[in-house]
Amino acid sequence: MLAIDVEGLTKRFGNFIAVDNVEVKVNKGEIFGFLGANGAGKTTTIKMLTGLISPSKGKIFVDGIDVVKYPQKVKEKIGYMSQKFSLYNDLTVEENINFFGRIYGLSTKKINSTKTWLYENFGLKDYESLLTNELPTGIKQRLALGITLMHEPTIVFLDEPTSGADPVSRRNFWEVIQELSRNGVSVFVTTHFLEEAEYCNSISFIHQGKIIAKGSPTQLKKIFEDYPIFEVDFGSPEFNYYLAGKKFDFAEFTLFGNKLHCYCKMKLVSTEDFRKILSEKLQTKILSLRKIKPSLEDVFVNYISSRNA
Ligand code: ATP
Repeated sequence: MLAIDVEGLTKRFGNFIAVDNVEVKVNKGEIFGFLGANGAGKTTTIKMLTGLISPSKGKIFVDGIDVVKYPQKVKEKIGYMSQKFSLYNDLTVEENINFFGRIYGLSTKKINSTKTWLYENFGLKDYESLLTNELPTGIKQRLALGITLMHEPTIVFLDEPTSGADPVSRRNFWEVIQELSRNGVSVFVTTHFLEEAEYCNSISFIHQGKIIAKGSPTQLKKIFEDYPIFEVDFGSPEFNYYLAGKKFDFAEFTLFGNKLHCYCKMKLVSTEDFRKILSEKLQTKILSLRKIKPSLEDVFVNYISSRNA
């Protein structure tokens, strides 16, 4: 049985289709990344999967429960960390844990053992008596995740759990997510940080409500198997900027930092041959050019660009 099994999921708000015929299959213990730009339909999908809003159409099974028929029943089985996770800022870390433990109906004994587990495994030991308001963002996010897990759900939904956190906190957060997955918990996570998606076992890209690509990070990168990607610098920030987003029959360019990623449209061309072609076609000098491995950001940019074309 799949942890999450969704087919034909659609949500309309009036005439607007926010989620359009979406399919999601997540195996038990898998980390599934749901990626897309602002307004793509990620939160709306999560809200339907967690029984918070009902779909206009489609079937949703979470841990074998028919969520469309039994939206309340699924809530006992899952953990959901929303974008604006609902910690109480004027309570200390310990008070928040006590409070949510009681909301979940846990015994005092269970709350205390969970507390010890959270302090040790979520790096919260030195913060127990601090007001939640005073916590650094990364610690607050770990506390929110810990509280989401207090009732030991087998499936967790995390909606942009690392936004606003620094890179070290984000890395620590993902270590916790990977540990959950090793312990058999299935994770459905949305993120804007495409490098974080490398931690996922499988990924779907959603764009304007539709799934435009899916697979493991390795499978998704295969679109570049025959067509190399180059990092190129023309030595002039103005010219680099001018080329950003431009499409030619030989290549397309996207700005990454102050250099360009060049998606080559010629099969298996060598760096030296491509340097000559590029220089001739654009009638300019090249300061640096090197072949690079595709990132998930390259994959995402490529899919979006071919959609918009
Ligand atoms: P973000 O990363 O910004 O949260 P998202 O991918 O989660 O984006 P959603 O919040 O799911 O996107 O929104 C998808 C689209 O549906 C957006 O255009 C949004 O304005 C629209 N939308 C969401 N909720 C409603 C609603 N209750 N009524 C009307 N439109 C809505």
